[in-house]
Amino acid sequence: MVARTIPSHANIRLLAKKNLGDLLEVLGRWGTVYAPVEKQPDVYTFAETTDLSAIALGYLRTALPPKRFMYPPEERLYNFTLSKGFEEPPQSEDRQILFGVHPCDIHAFSILDLVFAGPYPEPRYFKRRRRTAIIGLDCLPDVNCFCYSMDTDSVERGFDLFLTDIGEDYFVRVGSSWGEEVVRACKDLFTGLKEGSIEEYKRRADARSRMFESHVEMSDMPQIMELEFSNPLWEELGEKCLSCGSCSIVCPTCYCYDIIDQFDLKGDSGSRTRRWDSCLFKEFAQVAGFNFRQDRSTRVKLRYYHKQIAFVEEYGRSSCVGCGRCIETCPAKINIIEVLNEIRGKKVMSHAG
Ligand code: SF4
Ligand code: SF4
Repeated sequence: MVARTIPSHANIRLLAKKNLGDLLEVLGRWGTVYAPVEKQPDVYTFAETTDLSAIALGYLRTALPPKRFMYPPEERLYNFTLSKGFEEPPQSEDRQILFGVHPCDIHAFSILDLVFAGPYPEPRYFKRRRRTAIIGLDCLPDVNCFCYSMDTDSVERGFDLFLTDIGEDYFVRVGSSWGEEVVRACKDLFTGLKEGSIEEYKRRADARSRMFESHVEMSDMPQIMELEFSNPLWEELGEKCLSCGSCSIVCPTCYCYDIIDQFDLKGDSGSRTRRWDSCLFKEFAQVAGFNFRQDRSTRVKLRYYHKQIAFVEEYGRSSCVGCGRCIETCPAKINIIEVLNEIRGKKVMSHAG
């Protein structure tokens, strides 16, 4: 992999680390700030805060991805009554600022943008997207990260500001006019580049690239998976899988949902609710009493084939960003890195445990 692209100097500033608390305070005047905090030992979540001492700057991955801020796990779509017809519940107009989003999760938003833009555009998602600012933050990988293999370990767009640790300062890339506005409004907090800042940024980016322990060779993966459709591995995974659905629920790019209609006892009013669903659940493929993915192996296989073949055919890229959440969460220790490498025919060491 090549060294990271260095953006135009006009779009780079430095933020002294000692100024980060002040920046958060200013951001809090612009909207509600959500940042990673440690909820339980080693369990992280995005929570409302501008308190730097509460923010886990070195977090690796949150349990649930930040997609929930654009696409909530459960959402009332309509209320209806016989007299008034359908009414959409109002959506907040307030700005939300996601601070500390990692490159893989920023790529995941680009993937969800593709999905929700068509062929059936989802206005509620885009309304939230428009009122959300993203402040990205660099991270260091663990053994479950394979974003390097998925080409999502760095990001060039999709953020307002992106902070990379280069020692005493953050190297700040400005990615939008709103980001520029923040920099202008906080001009006492930011400075221009110092001698050696670019070299330090490049040195750290290259060092980070070498830290990835887990790799998946993705070239020709859709074709390889086509050829391996009957590989006994899918049956073996079906034997292990518990159909708990956790892998899809924690995935930053999974977007399947169920629709639940509820009526009052008289049947003259009710509501329609959308709730995240998982293709691993047995009922997911149940239609009119017939289940066309009755076996767990076919459901596990579907998840892989959708991400690595169907999505590539439709959108030109895999819908996996290599965040490692599904590996960390799977109670059956099914590891996507091992599965993809095994399908390719590469013997891999087990990272589960
Ligand atoms: S499939 Fe797993 S590794 Fe890939 S984006 Fe989803 S949760 Fe992350
Ligand atoms: S998290 Fe693991 S056990 Fe649960 S549905 Fe996914 S693959 Fe199966």
